[in-house]
Amino acid sequence: MNCKRVGKKRSRVGVRWQIFVCLALFAVTLLMVLWFFQVRLLSFFYEREKFSEIQSVADTLVRNLDDPEIEQRVEEYAMEKSVCICIFRIDGDRARSVASADIAADCVIHHLSPDLLAQTYEEAHAGGGVYDRRFEFTANEESEEYDGHLPQFLRTKGAESAVHARIVEHNGATYFLMIDSDLSPVGATVRTLEMQFIWIACILLAVVALLAALLSRIVATPLIMITQKASRLAAGEFEVDFSDSGYREVQELADALSHASGEIGASARLQKELIANISHDLRTPLTMIKGYSEMMRDIPGENTPENVQAVIDETTRLSELVNDLLDLSKLQAGTLKPERSVFDLTEMIRDVMQRYDTLIRHQGYHFEVSLEGSALVEADRTMILQVIYNLINNAVNYTGESMRVRVSATVGEHTVRFAVADDGEGIAPEQIGDIWDRYYRVDKEHKRAVMGTGLGLSIVKQVLEAHGATYGVDSALGTGSVFWFELPLAVQTDDE
Ligand code: ADP
Repeated sequence: MNCKRVGKKRSRVGVRWQIFVCLALFAVTLLMVLWFFQVRLLSFFYEREKFSEIQSVADTLVRNLDDPEIEQRVEEYAMEKSVCICIFRIDGDRARSVASADIAADCVIHHLSPDLLAQTYEEAHAGGGVYDRRFEFTANEESEEYDGHLPQFLRTKGAESAVHARIVEHNGATYFLMIDSDLSPVGATVRTLEMQFIWIACILLAVVALLAALLSRIVATPLIMITQKASRLAAGEFEVDFSDSGYREVQELADALSHASGEIGASARLQKELIANISHDLRTPLTMIKGYSEMMRDIPGENTPENVQAVIDETTRLSELVNDLLDLSKLQAGTLKPERSVFDLTEMIRDVMQRYDTLIRHQGYHFEVSLEGSALVEADRTMILQVIYNLINNAVNYTGESMRVRVSATVGEHTVRFAVADDGEGIAPEQIGDIWDRYYRVDKEHKRAVMGTGLGLSIVKQVLEAHGATYGVDSALGTGSVFWFELPLAVQTDDE
């Protein structure tokens, strides 16, 4: 047969890369989540926190506008909260400072030009009396150009501020409060974290590469070894040792392969035996037929009825063997299905026993037959007949010097049990499971001349299994064997 080798080398990604990619993805995801929350959202949360802080300072100030010591209060608050505060009283177009605390270097509100102050006031007015704004000094370093909001001369580049302004009507007067909180520390922190993240990412990727190498070694090495062993098995080396293959999953695979190698080895051996046996069994009658025929052709007077009978006997044996082989292969392939009909099993056994008359009369065999009433079963007549013949022939072949064979059919409530017992050597317990295999012989010597085709019990097994019948053998060395099967009764039987 011209078989093409399947499973050619495929260029798939190895486990090492897969582990590396998975770990790298995991690390990148982790870094991204950390970066997003720790760096990206840090300034957002910090800013929100700062605004709510300066708003609550503004609330407190508004409640204390009447306080005669407002200036001192403003100083205290500014120090306590690290903010800058300005409170103006608005009289028409003019703004008069009521209290002020300038404690920060990069304060915005204390360095606003009158125009910008007026502009801020307008914006607060337009915003319903409230103004919240984040300032960032973005002047170009070379041109030192002003970004439109802040006087550049006093700002550190990159400095940020949160400014809250509020217009308050109090006791008939209008106040304009401004509070400034420096946001720059968070900017610096974020930049530090960003740097740290670059380092962390590099270190993590290096660790991932190392881990991937280590893990893939742990995972892949046993797999590579087991693959090599499996290749040796595929090449026909059935004795490969798969034990001690690594971690649990690989060990399970090794056990499965071990089992498979045992089975394949046994099957290969059986296959060889099968071919040897079949060729032997086919060659013997063919040689005989050829020999007898040539003798009758060449030697005058040898064309006797006995010689013709010998040719016919050998032909019969040959055709039996071929038929058995065919039946067995059809049964195994499932193409030969039982054609069921209702018949009386005890009647069938009686008929069969009549055919053993010659054996009884001429060869001294002694049959003890015990049949109980009728037992109607629904089964394939021809197949069951073959089973009965095979079992009785085996009993005849293997029974000891007593030459006694006991055949019985016992009718139960729902089943009929057929049994055939002999007084032969019996079968060793460790071989009982194997005798149903095709061509298995307890005695490895191929004694075809004495015994059957070596396929009898395999056919019995296949037929009974096709009928869903239970079957078995009770045997012990030295006491003989009882082969039996049970078929369900088709209808209620009448006792005789
Ligand atoms: P064979 O043609 O060799 O009898 P079978 O398939 O009928 O082939 O039987 C398989 C093997 O089972 C036999 O070779 C024999 O070793 C064992 N066996 C079968 N029947 C008996 C029996 N009644 N007593 C002892 N051994 C038996």
